[in-house]
Amino acid sequence: MDFHFTPEQEAYRAAARAWLEAELPDWSRPGFADDAEEATRFERQRAWHRKLCQAGYVGATWPEEYGGRGLDPVSNAILQEELARAEAPPGLNPLGIGLCGPAILQHGSEAQKRRYLPRMLSAEELWCQGYSEPGAGSDLAGLSTRAELEGESYRVNGQKIWTSMADRADWCFALVRTDPSRPRHDGIGFLLIDMRTPGIEVRPITQITGAREFGEVFFSDVRVPAENLVGAPTEGWRIANTVLGYERGANTLSLYPRFRKRFERLVELGRKRRGPAAAVLRERLAQIAIEVEILRLNSLRQLSQLARGEPPGSEASIQKLYWSELENRFHRLAVDLQGAYGQLVAGSERAIDGGIWQFEELNALRFMIARGTSEIQRNIISERVLGLPRR
Ligand SMILES: Cc1cc2nc3c(=O)[nH]c(=O)nc-3n(C[C@H](O)[C@H](O)[C@H](O)COP(=O)(O)OP(=O)(O)OC[C@H]3O[C@@H](n4cnc5c(N)ncnc54)[C@H](O)[C@@H]3O)c2cc1C
Repeated sequence: MDFHFTPEQEAYRAAARAWLEAELPDWSRPGFADDAEEATRFERQRAWHRKLCQAGYVGATWPEEYGGRGLDPVSNAILQEELARAEAPPGLNPLGIGLCGPAILQHGSEAQKRRYLPRMLSAEELWCQGYSEPGAGSDLAGLSTRAELEGESYRVNGQKIWTSMADRADWCFALVRTDPSRPRHDGIGFLLIDMRTPGIEVRPITQITGAREFGEVFFSDVRVPAENLVGAPTEGWRIANTVLGYERGANTLSLYPRFRKRFERLVELGRKRRGPAAAVLRERLAQIAIEVEILRLNSLRQLSQLARGEPPGSEASIQKLYWSELENRFHRLAVDLQGAYGQLVAGSERAIDGGIWQFEELNALRFMIARGTSEIQRNIISERVLGLPRR
C-alpha cells in the first residue's frame, strides 16, 4: 500500500480544485421532489455535465481517440475526490460511462467503440442497464428475456425491472438469452438496444422516497440489428462480469469528503442533545467517526491495487458491503440525533435542515440492494475471498 500521491498527481488535484472554485454552479443536495422539480434539476445537471466534458473532466481514464484523456486511475480518483469535496452536482450518464463504456472498451468492436463511446461521454445519448428481471435479481443467470436471431436482426421479447433511468435513456445495455439450449451461464448475450425502437414500453416505479427514477421495461417483438451485439452471442455472462467488477470495484475515495462534511453537521446536532440518550448518541457518533476513517483507508487500499494495474476482484465486495451499510448507519444516526424533531419531514417549517436527513435515511436503503444485496456480498466474501466452504 502506498498512500502518497506524486507531484504530477498533486498538480492535477490543484488544477481541478482551481477550476471547480471558478466554475461550480449553485447546487443543493437533492431531497423529496416532485416530477417537475426533478426535471428542472435534471436540466441543470445536463448543463453542468457539458461544462465538465468540455474541461476534460468526464471519462478521464478513457483513451483519447474515444473522447477521454488517457489518465491513470489514481488521477481520476483524485478528480472524483475533488468533485465530491466541492459538493459538485453529479454528472449524467453514470450507467453508460461507469459500466457500459468499460464493457465496450474491453469487449466491443472498433466500430462499436467509435459509434457509442464519444456520445456516451458527452451524454448526448443516455444509457440504462437492463439486467434484473422479475425472476432474476441476485440469481441473474436465471434471466429469461429472449433474443432470437432472424436474418440480420434479433427479435427481443421479455421484461426487465428496477431499470434506473429507463424513462430518460436513449439506449439500454441488456442481458438477453440467445441460446436456451446451452447451460444457463453460456446462453446469454450482451445487446445494445435503442430505447426508441417500436415494441418497448417503460412503466416508472415509485420508490420509498417518492422519486420515480427506475421502472419496468417491456419488450414485445423488438427488432434489434445483430451488429448491436457486443462480443459473441454467448459471451454475455463474461462481459456482464466485467461490468459487475466496475460496479462494485469502482474506487470509493470520493465518498470520504462527503461523509466528512456531513459528519461535521452530525457533531453540531449532537451538541444540542441533552438528557440520558445523549451519552448513547455520542458513543454512536464516535463509532461513525472511526468507520468513516476506515472507509478512507479501504478506498486507498483499493486505489493502490488499481494503480498497480490489477482489476477489481471479489474483494471489491468488502468495500461495497462496508460503504452501503455505513450509509444506512450514518443517516439513521442523523435522524436519531434530532430526537422528536426526527419525525418531521420536508414541508414542515420546524424540520431540521429542511428534512434532508429524513430523505437521506430512506434513500440510503437502496445501496444495500442495488449492485448486489448485502447478503450476496457476504456470500462472495466468505466463499471467494476467505475460501470458506459452501453449505
Ligand atoms: C435503487 C436501485 C436501482 C437499481 N437499478 C438497477 C438497474 O439500473 N438495472 C438493473 O438491472 N437492476 C437494478 N436494480 C436491481 C438490483 O440489482 C436487484 O434489486 C438486486 O440484484 C436484488 O435482486 P432482487 O431485487 O431480484 O432480489 P432477490 O434476488 O429476489 O433477493 C431477495 C432477498 O433474498 C436474498 N437472497 C437472494 N439470494 C440469496 C442467497 N443466495 N443467499 C442469501 N440471501 C439471498 C437477497 O439478499 C434479498 O434480501 C436496482 C435496485 C435498486 C434498489
